Amino acid sequence: MNQDITETQEIRLTGIPVSPGIAFGYIKVHVSGSQEPESYDITEADIPGELVRFHRALLDTTTQISRMRDRMKLISGEKEAAIFDAHMMFLQDKSVISKVEKLLSTRLKNVEFVYYVVMQDYIEVLRRLDDPYFRARTGDMEDVMQRVIKNLTQIEPLENLLNNTEREEDEDLQILMAYDLTPSDTAAMDAFKIRGFATETGSTVSHTAILARSMGIPAIVGIEHGVLKVECRAFAIIDGYKGVLVIKPTDETIQYYKRIQSEKEKAYKKLEALRGLPTETKDGRKVRLSGNVEFPHEYSAVKEVGAEGVGLFRTEFFLLGNRTGMPDEEEQYNYYRELAEGCAPHGVIFRTLDAGGDKLPSEKLDAPEPNPFLGWRGIRVSLTRKSIFKKQLRAILRATVGIPKCGVMFPMISGYTEVMQAKAVLQECRDELEAEGIPYDKNLRVGIMIEVPSAALMTDFLAKEVDFFSVGTNDLTQYTIAVDRVNNKVANLFRSTHPAVGRLINMTVQAGEREGIPTAICGEMAGDILLMPLLIGLGAVSFSVGVHLVPVVRYAIRNLNYEECRAMAQEALASSNSRDIVNLSTALAKKSYPILFE
Ligand code: PEP
Ligand code: MG
Repeated sequence: MNQDITETQEIRLTGIPVSPGIAFGYIKVHVSGSQEPESYDITEADIPGELVRFHRALLDTTTQISRMRDRMKLISGEKEAAIFDAHMMFLQDKSVISKVEKLLSTRLKNVEFVYYVVMQDYIEVLRRLDDPYFRARTGDMEDVMQRVIKNLTQIEPLENLLNNTEREEDEDLQILMAYDLTPSDTAAMDAFKIRGFATETGSTVSHTAILARSMGIPAIVGIEHGVLKVECRAFAIIDGYKGVLVIKPTDETIQYYKRIQSEKEKAYKKLEALRGLPTETKDGRKVRLSGNVEFPHEYSAVKEVGAEGVGLFRTEFFLLGNRTGMPDEEEQYNYYRELAEGCAPHGVIFRTLDAGGDKLPSEKLDAPEPNPFLGWRGIRVSLTRKSIFKKQLRAILRATVGIPKCGVMFPMISGYTEVMQAKAVLQECRDELEAEGIPYDKNLRVGIMIEVPSAALMTDFLAKEVDFFSVGTNDLTQYTIAVDRVNNKVANLFRSTHPAVGRLINMTVQAGEREGIPTAICGEMAGDILLMPLLIGLGAVSFSVGVHLVPVVRYAIRNLNYEECRAMAQEALASSNSRDIVNLSTALAKKSYPILFE
């Protein structure tokens, strides 16, 4: 182990900041695939009893594993049965057992928790070995650990653990440290309890990071070997501005971060006070500034920051996050109506299901896709699962009746045929509702996401078929420069300012202008105030950003001069590389709103 977990001094770990804010809480470790057991205090007097429980559980597990070995030998032969020898070896590892015995008296916590802490350290060391054979054994070790813990206690599902309301008061505020978190783990978090999280993997535009921003949870990704370096239940601070996780902070550090937190809150409140003012540049170019949301109830946050409705409702988290299955048309109608009414008189742009990629699939697949981002995702799923698609379209058409400026938008469009097919299904839904005498929105606008380069290259044709474009810069960047948006090994190559991405955005805006349709930007790039001069200069007329970013982005736009941005964007379009483009946009941003960089 590279750290004694009883160490008391302050430890600082750094990573990539992906969601701003300062959070204070107690570390909870989530090892991929396994669940942390309950933790409670014990006294010195309890230790002998805990040791008896532990050795009893080890014995039970030994019996279970040898039974499984015998059965496997009978069914498949000695070779297959031998995998249980490795399980037995992990189970009886003397160094694990003695470490548990030692830690019981230093940590004074229940034995299943102490065993988990020890095993979690070993597993993470194994996971990082160069030898693929040993790396592959982490699964065996996790299996053994779960079995022992199960024999010691009943395990709760992860969601319960994340949202457990019956914790001790002072341990209620949690900072989650994980090797990786899936978007659904993140969506299941209760922001009142999980104050912040840090992971070893991930990137700024992974859906986990996007969700953290939209939920207002400070987060850091890319902390190398973070799981190994933290101590369960230690007090910690997450600095989501700079990407620092401070474990066991000194009083001085705590005071420092409290000060930063209160200063940032004050500055944010000042910007929030501008919420009634129009979002327009100094020379009078009006733009629409709306919010990206993932859950219907977020309309109150949208209202609070004065966003002009919702420019991107990512419906997949709410549709697929439901353990009891996808909501039916009526349920969807109710949720969509709640959001649309909550945002009125501003509209909501409902994006149809974007299942796949790094998000959940819409149904259980026989085997994992070899290349999920290039696979069965977005509109491809909807067009092959027409009944799911129609249910959603009907619910949207019904929910937006009488609410102006609403729209539906299709994700992952790669070309003309998909747009025509999606529109045909929408028309089918309109015809059905008409025939059934059910009121529906006759003015619902129809748009598409421009996030696949082939679609951007075809925008001259596509602009004739839709009412608006919305550029998804996260995917457009990933697909244009072939950099996986969730792979932290290539995170440094992920550049939305790549000249090729700029050209595709420009092409889209121009094609839209020729046909008189607006182009919005709804990817994470729209929330980056350093790049706002570039996007304004390229002619985008609508921006949809994480709700918490609305006040800052509004302030930035109100301090820009459109003509100046245009001239800069022309220069950027003539640039050969990303760095020159970043420099051009950054210089204008810093000149226009220096206060945001203090
Ligand atoms: C995008 O790709 O930029 C986008 C907004 O969609 P998502 O992040 O949900 O893929
Ligand atoms: Mg996308």
